[in-house]
Amino acid sequence: MTERLEGCIALVTGASRGIGAAVAVELGRLGAQVVLTARTQGGLEETDDAVRAAGGQASLLPLDLREADQIDAIGPTLFQRFGRLDVLVHNAAVLGKLTPASHIMNDDWTNVVGVNLTASLRLIRTCEPLLRRAPAGRAVFVTDAVARQPHAYWGAIGATKAAMEHLVLSWAQELETTPVRVNLFDPGRVRTRMRSAAFPGEDPATVPTPDTVAPALALLCLPAEGRNGALVKV
Ligand code: NAP
Repeated sequence: MTERLEGCIALVTGASRGIGAAVAVELGRLGAQVVLTARTQGGLEETDDAVRAAGGQASLLPLDLREADQIDAIGPTLFQRFGRLDVLVHNAAVLGKLTPASHIMNDDWTNVVGVNLTASLRLIRTCEPLLRRAPAGRAVFVTDAVARQPHAYWGAIGATKAAMEHLVLSWAQELETTPVRVNLFDPGRVRTRMRSAAFPGEDPATVPTPDTVAPALALLCLPAEGRNGALVKV
């Protein structure tokens, strides 16, 4: 029988669409109460409907991951509301403009670094105390192959994903002797808004849908997951 997440609280960033929405549905299906975050209220409501349709329960926490105070408040808010956090999935990211490194504009750099890297640190800081208190705290950070295989014009997202991976793997080592398990997940090509923006000429019908990768990510959230500091690729 598949292990389940009944009684667990799972926070999913970037849950308004794409991979984050599919992961939220999968975690809800496994019995978790899913806390959905992103900026777009309408998208969060659609994901909420989808989680409920799958038999799960969700709560909405609209926020902008570039706003430091909003992220710092997540841990205290979850503690006040639920008294616990069992699963953190940091999936939200931005592509930024694909452009030569010498052409990257300051605003775009600040945006990409803010969402893809600085928010990761702030999520680690605000969530660690609750994850440590959980019987089987789990954290999964979604990454991209470009972190390890640099491509022309992909410098901003590639640099931030590489730095995020380094930070997360360092954190995993720090938690090695605790029950918390921290891993990276690389979904490969997935049919989302980000994918269309990166590859506008690609036929979306040839790209796997988010629901096909969500179960593999959800496995990393289960109490039985023993890996720590792993990079799991689809
Ligand atoms: P997506 O459809 O563009 O979704 C991105 C999510 O991030 C949205 O829910 C968006 O919500 C949220 N987000 C962006 N900026 C935010 C901000 N400032 N504050 C809060 N939330 C913000 O992208 P996706 O393809 O599902 O990507 C999900 C993850 O998979 C990313 O980490 C990406 O790097 C990774 N990935 C994707 C692919 C692929 O082929 N799709 C391949 C490799 C890795 P709002 O706009 O509503 O705020």
